Parts: sequence; C-alpha cells; structure tokens
Amino acid sequence: MPPEGYVTRFAPSPTGPLHLGHAFSALTAFARARAAGGTFLLRIEDIDRGRCRPAWEAALKDDLRWLGLSWPEPVLRQSGRLPAYRAALDRLAAMGLLYPCRCTRGDIRAALSAPQEGAEGPDGPPYPGTCRGRPMAEAGATDALRLDIAQAAALTGPLTYLETGGEDGPPGPRCEAPAALAARAGDVVLARRDLGTSYHLAVVVDDAAQGVTEVVRGADLIGATMLHVLLQKLLQLRTPSYHHHRLIRDAAGRRLAKRDDARALARYRAEGARPADIAAMVGLRPPAA
Ligand code: GLU
Repeated sequence: MPPEGYVTRFAPSPTGPLHLGHAFSALTAFARARAAGGTFLLRIEDIDRGRCRPAWEAALKDDLRWLGLSWPEPVLRQSGRLPAYRAALDRLAAMGLLYPCRCTRGDIRAALSAPQEGAEGPDGPPYPGTCRGRPMAEAGATDALRLDIAQAAALTGPLTYLETGGEDGPPGPRCEAPAALAARAGDVVLARRDLGTSYHLAVVVDDAAQGVTEVVRGADLIGATMLHVLLQKLLQLRTPSYHHHRLIRDAAGRRLAKRDDARALARYRAEGARPADIAAMVGLRPPAA
C-alpha cells in the first residue's frame, strides 16, 4: 500500500556519481517531505540496464545516507517493473493510441526537412510521423512503440497541474491545450526497442503506484511535465503537484551532468567536506538530525 499524506521521491539513475545537482534535488525533496510530515522515497531508475551499474547504485545510496537522508526500504527499482509498464502499454494500445516505429535516428534526421528552430519537444524535435498508422499487429522486436499524440490529445480536455516551484513563474496552476502539447512534443516513444519502456511511461506509472503527491525535480524537466499529465489522464492516474527547482550550474553557467566528476559528492567527501558544507554549496541548510 502506498504511504498516506504527502509523498515525494528522489529518482536517480545509477549511471554515474551523484553530483551537487543531485544533492540539491534530494535535499530539497527531503526537506519538503519533512516540512509536510510526509514521506521521502528513493526510487532507482535503472530501466537502461546497459548504462546502469550496481556499484553506482551502492555509491549513490551511500552518498545520500552520508548527506543525512533516510527512506523506507525496500526501494522501488524500475528494472523490476516491466510487467507494470507492459500493462500500461497494453491499455494504450487497446485505445488505439500506439503504433510500432522502425525508424532509426538517421531516418528521422533525414525526414526532418529543415532544422526545427524553437520546436524542441521533451525528446528533441517532434517525430515526423513516418510510421504513423502502422498497425500494432506488425510490431516486432526491432520496433519502438510511439504514442499517436494527436489522437491522444483528442481524447482529453485541458491539461493542468499545480506548480509549487517558482522557476517558470509564480507558483500556481499551469495549463496547456492538448493540441499545443501534441504540436510541441510530437509522437513520443513510450517503449524503446531495447528497453520495452521509456522514461516518460515509467515515471508516470511509478509515481502513481507509489502514491507520490508531489514530484520534486529539476526545472530541465518542465517541458516534459504536460506529457506526463497527458499520460496520467489516458491511464486514469492522479496528477501530483510538481515542484520544479532551479538547476545547479558550474562556474561557466552550464548545468552539471554525471560526467562532471569534478562536482561529484564522492570527490568532496574525499577532500574532507562535511554534509553541511555540501548543503551550503547549493544554498541550503543541512537536514536537522
Ligand atoms: N531519473 C530521472 C533523472 O535522473 C528522474 C527524473 C524525475 O525525477 O522525474 O533525471
């Protein structure tokens, strides 16, 4: 049974060391759960088995515990959730909203005639629609599954969620017309051929299964949130509120990435930093014991 009351989660992928940006996200989520008297969950987003390593998972848990965070065990690992993702895909397929796609990245690039200035969807330029209309009966092991987003949009009313962060304007409701999302996002992949699912599908299914009431994550994901709201509507799942937080940047103003080992928590730890130093570096107070 999911926990009651406020529930949030920190959902890293174990593909590299945690850096200051992750620390900020996890500390923010933990503090918001504490303030609400709610629950902070850790979720391991390891659907991409080729890139994830058990050693990174052990290291990230160690870093988070060292920072002063705690969470209920056992943690949910997405690699064990493929049947749940499959069930969601079956449901969308039964609604006639999925089609198999065999395009390679090169095919898609070639089909996009002009550079799509300003038309970046959550996964890049919208898919040109080459395979749209292919029947699901043709789906083979080498096909991805895409959402026919115009059809999906036609089934739903306005898309809304409550923003509790302040990165894209004052906190409050956010709204987008389904047709506007469809034009911006295009037919996104919901099941990659190599993974059988995708980030968008897995995150929506799991947030609902875990009873998450507020998603705390970086402002880089604002552009994907209405797509998540659309999927929630199609799958009849509750929409949580979203707290998109600022991104931690390096001295040159670039957001940190996993490859930025220089900003890895492990490195600061090895140099003798304490948890309070990390919190101060990202502009927070450390969690009270
Ligand atoms: N695994 C995702 C990441 O590391 C989580 C994004 C989210 O919180 O929805 O960026």
